[in-house]
Amino acid sequence: ESASLAARVREQIPALRHEGGEAARRWAYLDSAATTLTPQPVIDALSDFYATETGSAGRGGHWRARRSTGRYEAARERVAAFLGAETSASVVFTRGATHALNLIAGGLRGALREGDEVVVSAMEHHANLLPWRALAEASGARLRVLPLNERGELDMDAAEAMIGARTAVVALTHVSNVLGTVNPVDELVAMARQHGALSVIDGSQSVAHRAVDVTTLGCDFFVCSAHKMYGPTGVGVLYGRPEALERLRPVELGGGMMTSVTEEEVVFAELPNRLEAGTPPVAQAVGLAAAIAWMEGFGMEALQRHEEELTAYALGRFEAVEGLEVVRRPRQRSAVIAFGLRGVDAYDLGELLDAQNVAVRVGSHCAHPLVRALGLCATARASFGAYTDRDDVDALIEALMQATHFSR
Ligand code: PMP
Repeated sequence: ESASLAARVREQIPALRHEGGEAARRWAYLDSAATTLTPQPVIDALSDFYATETGSAGRGGHWRARRSTGRYEAARERVAAFLGAETSASVVFTRGATHALNLIAGGLRGALREGDEVVVSAMEHHANLLPWRALAEASGARLRVLPLNERGELDMDAAEAMIGARTAVVALTHVSNVLGTVNPVDELVAMARQHGALSVIDGSQSVAHRAVDVTTLGCDFFVCSAHKMYGPTGVGVLYGRPEALERLRPVELGGGMMTSVTEEEVVFAELPNRLEAGTPPVAQAVGLAAAIAWMEGFGMEALQRHEEELTAYALGRFEAVEGLEVVRRPRQRSAVIAFGLRGVDAYDLGELLDAQNVAVRVGSHCAHPLVRALGLCATARASFGAYTDRDDVDALIEALMQATHFSR
């Protein structure tokens, strides 16, 4: 089932055909956690929009503006349904997950007091760390960091002890972009709720790989980026429960987010427009809606099963590579694997793999505190998507075997 799914997916990804031309060796693209390759239906949706429907959304009454507005709002509905939001007014389009997290943390300025605590984890991407650090500094709140256990999982006893009466915000990633750990976010959201704290879930690495339902999850905020969901760059989502969104002060001011402006007063628009200053990313939102339709065409459960099977296959095959070290082994994991090769510098390893047409990410993955806590300077990371297949994993293993000859 897994192999046939990947084969069907691959036919729709032009980037997999064009790499280096027909005669070139096949590329193994193992960097989907950084950005996913784009399916033809998404490219078509973008190009059709620009060809036939360009018009500024949310302003202007002529037919082009109306049609563009309709497409934009239909995309919002699609995203809301995909995430399980009760109303599309809960969906704010942003430039990406980073932008969404900055709108939340920035929007809470003034809402936190000295002595309040913001809880993040030791595995956060800088996008879900630095905005909270800035908020804590600006408001006299304390930033607390949930530690990890030796498997690279969140320490749940520490979470019980840390999340309490002083906690104002709990901001955690759903899936680690380095270790692949799938965090028990439902439990953590419940803990936050129990103590009256706002919960923020960074879904950048989860929504394209498993079904997510924000209403069941019960979180206050949830963010993601389209370019990691087979969609275009330049657009992301800030989901918020209506009461939670109401608590955000608009950080960005301009057109489209107000209903009237006089010399004395600005009246802000209703949600979600209040949080979308400026001309919205209409084509990108339409592209994201197409990406969601594309994923749903295969089914999120099928995509998850495919990636789980491939991850188990890769972890098994890694055993055969002398000196290969998988960085942490979380029990609940997604298709993201950090690894190193004993005696080979991580950056050299990246180059050796690249020279063999295997694309992995090397570095500290925008998570410096995590990589430092692991006692490393950098790691290699392989991450899978719907189009990844066993041939890609085999190419990685073969390239790693070659790289062992360079070990010192
Ligand atoms: N959070 C996580 C867990 C991520 O992996 C990423 C992207 N690497 C981001 C946030 C930021 O996403 P973007 O760069 O698209 O804003």
